[in-house]
Amino acid sequence: MTIDAGLDATNDVGTLDARHVWHPYTQHWQAPAPVEIVRAHGATLHARDGRAILDAISSWWVTLHGHAEPSIAEAIAEQARTLEQVIFAGFTHAPAAELSAALARVLPPGLTRVFLSDDGSTAVEAALKIALQWWHNRGEPRRLVAALEHAYHGDTFGAMSVGARSIFSAPFAPQLFDVARLPDPSEDADATLAAFDALLDARGHELAALIVEPLVLGAGGMRMWREDTLRALADRCRARGVLLIADEVMTGFGRTGALFACGRAGVAPDMICLSKGITGGFLPMGATVVREELFAGFLSDDRTRTLFHGHSYTANPVTCAAALASLRLLESDASTQARARIEAAHRRHLDALGAHPLVRAPRVMGTIAALDLVDARAGGGYLNPVGRELATFALEEGVLLRPLGDACYVLPPFCTTDEELDRVYGVIARFLEGARASGA
Ligand SMILES: *Cc1c(COP(=O)(O)O)cnc(C)c1O
Repeated sequence: MTIDAGLDATNDVGTLDARHVWHPYTQHWQAPAPVEIVRAHGATLHARDGRAILDAISSWWVTLHGHAEPSIAEAIAEQARTLEQVIFAGFTHAPAAELSAALARVLPPGLTRVFLSDDGSTAVEAALKIALQWWHNRGEPRRLVAALEHAYHGDTFGAMSVGARSIFSAPFAPQLFDVARLPDPSEDADATLAAFDALLDARGHELAALIVEPLVLGAGGMRMWREDTLRALADRCRARGVLLIADEVMTGFGRTGALFACGRAGVAPDMICLSKGITGGFLPMGATVVREELFAGFLSDDRTRTLFHGHSYTANPVTCAAALASLRLLESDASTQARARIEAAHRRHLDALGAHPLVRAPRVMGTIAALDLVDARAGGGYLNPVGRELATFALEEGVLLRPLGDACYVLPPFCTTDEELDRVYGVIARFLEGARASGA
């Protein structure tokens, strides 16, 4: 029996996949066969059948500069030949130390201590555990966490608990811990602030932390909210000693135009969670970056105050090297200009599409653009079929879009050209015309 035994029977990827692979977020009973991608370059995915597909969603928001970006690929290859992995308790290495220092330099002021993990969910789990244990270590336990309606923070249990209750989490509802829920600031910021004030008055002494996706609630439908609301929440947290956790897993590394959404709003949170674009989209990595004061709360002769948390691949050197190479690109003038150019293109296209009767709430934040598709069926929400219809139509036209229910968004890698964006928006416009013609 060899590892290739399966390939003796058939070397067809589709057959092997259909027999053995369980895909994420996929209803295998209904889903069409997955598209086999053999290579990618820039903003384009190349399929086995010869199709070229424009990746308008950065492959689930991770691909930052472009697919197969050469300088990141080179950094990975070089690091893999030098030091591929070493236990990170009791040992360190240049890529991790340099990456941690580089993150401290580019993040909002005060965020100096970096805890590395595997992905966005683990970055959030670590943040929640740090918050709760920090209060525990102080001998004044606070056990309540506040979070926003429509929030998404990942798929592990702690991350699901602070995320919005939804069809994703319903089977696990009894196992999720209770959180104090604040109204969605993209809908009514005054209601969010009033609810937070009421919560602080009633249960402020129990409140360990507030976790938010700053400025854009991503998976909840690319719901954009105001910088002054974020500042107002941050001010209240500071005044009442509540830790503010900014989940920038999606918004980080230039997606909102600025390097970080918190920086854009002039807010310095107590902790920030990073992942997705951190390695330019090459390798999985999570980072939880905290203020020195939080780190200091774990220093003690009493070993029970230790943060007993870690993952086998924490600070993998190859991953750190990729992240460093990505940061170098991100800080270049060329990247800054590309992000501004993409934002301008989004605005031009949404100005044109905004008047369409089937378009609601066109919105732009840096390199992220979104609009809601008006569709009479089944109300809004993730299960509304209009999003999947657009995704199917777009794929036939060679563009990868994956609306969140009725929320259609464009979140392209920064290499995406104006001509490529013309194609993406052309597909959306043709879909809308077709939908109007059929009276949807
Ligand atoms: C994607 C996402 C996560 C989860 O990250 P994974 O790497 O998928 O575990 C957490 N928070 C936000 C804001 C995200 O967009």
